[in-house]
Amino acid sequence: MSILVVGSVAFDAVKTPFGEVTKAIGGSATYFSLSASNFADVRLVAAIGNDFGAKEMAVFDGRAIDTAGMVRMDGETFFWRGEYGYDLNDAKTLETRLNVFEKFRPVVPPSYLDSKVVFLGNIDPELQGEVLSQVKSPELVAADTMNFWIQGKKPELIETLRRVDLLLINESEARMLSGEHNLVMAARNIRALGPKTLVIKRGEYGVLAFTERSSFAAPAYPLESVFDPTGAGDSFAGGLVGYLASCVVRDDSALRRGIILGQVMASFNVEDFSVRRLRSVTTPEIRARFEAFRQLVHFEDLEPASAKTPFPKL
Ligand code: AMP
Repeated sequence: MSILVVGSVAFDAVKTPFGEVTKAIGGSATYFSLSASNFADVRLVAAIGNDFGAKEMAVFDGRAIDTAGMVRMDGETFFWRGEYGYDLNDAKTLETRLNVFEKFRPVVPPSYLDSKVVFLGNIDPELQGEVLSQVKSPELVAADTMNFWIQGKKPELIETLRRVDLLLINESEARMLSGEHNLVMAARNIRALGPKTLVIKRGEYGVLAFTERSSFAAPAYPLESVFDPTGAGDSFAGGLVGYLASCVVRDDSALRRGIILGQVMASFNVEDFSVRRLRSVTTPEIRARFEAFRQLVHFEDLEPASAKTPFPKL
């Protein structure tokens, strides 16, 4: 099943303790699409400037990514400059230039209107709402956002959230959006705004998911070398939403497998700067890491058949 995604396509300048890039391809929709296209067909809606040429567009080539909904506008492409310290969990935004996104009014191409799965990537919540309103009858609407929009456009964001089924959000942003420090309370408040399913991303500490029926926790995949966490959230979303789009039954069990695939995709993404690793990762690599993840979190009952004696004092 195809996924319609709207979000930023960007140039990023990123500095981490392990290196830096000054004008690398980034953007929420870029990371999402590259990740999700491993699992489902992606239909991309975004604006780019004159500076995003054929060389940059090639990042979408040879994959299940339809770029008919990308518009080239007069001006410069969205630009984000950020920095990370040794604590790679939270990006420090140094500069955000919306550029062409300031005047962008998204028109969803007719060939996208029947999309059943929609991902509203991190971008102005008004644009998210405009795109969603054009899709005929979506079955699953997932969304992401960040502090920039929670602070700058909260009423518009709340309006969009009313129509969202699955929200993915960072820990600090969950606190900011809900005004609650405790994450379980924050989750309750945010779910009351609309999204029945909430996934809170906690960087290297993993994710917490809350649904109507259950809660689920997953660690991040432990890696020896992490170079650049930029795009981890969107790669995670690509794995999760991409997998759900490919599922006939989207129950809590599918959500759990999707969350692990999200963690798998995020773990590949952070292994190199910009979109380099997402471009090179293969299906056998994704399968192998999913299996390694299953081993990582596997444990038996308190009293498995193999245990010789019952667990003491229980
Ligand atoms: P994340 O997956 O959260 O690390 O997202 C990283 C991407 O988000 C970067 O490639 C940026 O270009 C993009 N980005 C940063 N700030 C914004 C913003 N305010 N709106 C849309 N995209 C953004």
